[in-house]
Formats: sequence, C-alpha cells, structure tokens
Amino acid sequence: MPSKLIGLIFVWMIAAAQVFSAQAQSPQAPAAPGQPAPQTSTAVPQQTLPAPAQPTVEPTAPPQKTLAIVVLDPAHGGADLGARGSSGISESDVVLSFARLVRISLEAQGLRVILTRQANDDPSFDDRSRMANAQRGDVFITLHVSSTGQPGTVRVYSMAQMALPQKSAFASRSGLLPWDRAQFSFIEQSRRLAELIQIQMAQRFRGSSETPFEAPVRQLRTVGAPAVAIEVSSVSVPDRAPLDQMGPGLADGVARAVAAFRTIYEAGGK
Ligand SMILES: [Zn+2]
Repeated sequence: MPSKLIGLIFVWMIAAAQVFSAQAQSPQAPAAPGQPAPQTSTAVPQQTLPAPAQPTVEPTAPPQKTLAIVVLDPAHGGADLGARGSSGISESDVVLSFARLVRISLEAQGLRVILTRQANDDPSFDDRSRMANAQRGDVFITLHVSSTGQPGTVRVYSMAQMALPQKSAFASRSGLLPWDRAQFSFIEQSRRLAELIQIQMAQRFRGSSETPFEAPVRQLRTVGAPAVAIEVSSVSVPDRAPLDQMGPGLADGVARAVAAFRTIYEAGGK
C-alpha cells in the first residue's frame, strides 16, 4: 500500500508539474523587456472606477423676463480698420464714437451697457459673443459703417434663419464651436428688434428703409440673445462731419427702439 500511495503521489506531482509548466509558457507570460506596464495598469482602473456621472442640468430658474443689459459692439478695431474711405475715414474709429453716444442714450433708459471694446483693440468674433452669452436678459447690437449705400442712411440686419449652417457642415469647416447655432432660438426676437430700430432710423435718416434686412452676419450667429447689426452709410463721404452728425440721432433712435423692445420682451412677446 505505502509504495502504491507513494507511486500515486509521484504521478500526481509529475502531472502537476506539467500543468504548471504549461501555464508558465502560456502567451501572457513572456513580456518583451522594453514593453511598458501601463497596458495592464490602465486597464485595471477602467474596470474598477465607477462610470462617470452623466452631466446634469440644474432645474432651471424661471425664464429671465427682465431686459437690463445691452452688449454694444463697435465692430472691427486694432489692426482691422473695417471699411476705409478714400479720405482716410476708418470704420473702426467711427463705430467707436457712435458706440459711446449710443451707450449714453441707452443708460438714460435705465439699461446697463457693456462695450465689447473700449478702445482700439480687436476682440475676436467669439470673444464678443462670449461677452453677450455671459449675460442674462441682454440684447446685442453690433455697429458698422459701410463703404457702400446712400450716405446718410442706416440699415438694420438680423440673422437670416436659413443662413445658419447645419452642424455637420460647420463642423467639417472648422471642427469647433458647438455654439455656432446660438442665434437660432432668437431669430424672431432679433427680427423684431431690428424692425423697431429700422423704423426709428427711417424717421431720422431720409432714404433709410422702413423695414429691416436679413443677412448671414457672422457676428450674430454665435450670440445667444436677441441680436442685430446696424450699418451706417458710409465711409465714402469726403470728411467725417456728416457721419459724426448722425451720431446723436442714431443713439436716440437705438435707445428708443430698445426701450420699446424691452416692453415687448418683458411681456413675453416677440
Ligand atoms: Zn464692419
């Protein structure tokens, strides 16, 4: 019996040794000398970490019904002079002086005004939109002086709905900015604001249209608020005096239109 038992144990040991040997030669064993460990060490946390929490949206506060802020954008600036007249008038200068006047008139209506630039700098389109999008209860107005059009007239634009690019088309072009469609939800309100301003302009500047325009204005596309572009004609005048003379009327008209828009906005209409 004992010798039989010893024999069985011996056989078992050989078998066990073969199994052990087979395991030792299995593919997972030989690691290349230079092979880094992270392959396995990164796999472990992936398995053990809890799944990241889904981003949650706070229960939203009631929609903001107060219109208290105007983000006023003197377009261009810095190295970008905008439109240039043959007499040397540059759009970037003129819009800055217009913006200062418009600001005073808006503040007289009890509105807070944020200028996207105070001096001769040139924030990007996105920087300017970001200033507007950081606010609640605001409207955005970008000021331009064109090189064309009948001098002494003003055109007011809102974003054209069909000009908003499809997500995929835009993504393939720049690969950026999911907020490229920020204006989408404000098309109607923007058109209404444009209408109110254009009516004021028609009353002050003969030859101006009584109805506003729609266009694919780059700056407006990324603004998540009622937003319009105002374009004064034009830098082609021989000197700045007639342009500067438009400043007070422009400022008063814009302020009155925004005040009228505020009433509509705060009543929840479009
Ligand atoms: Zn311009």
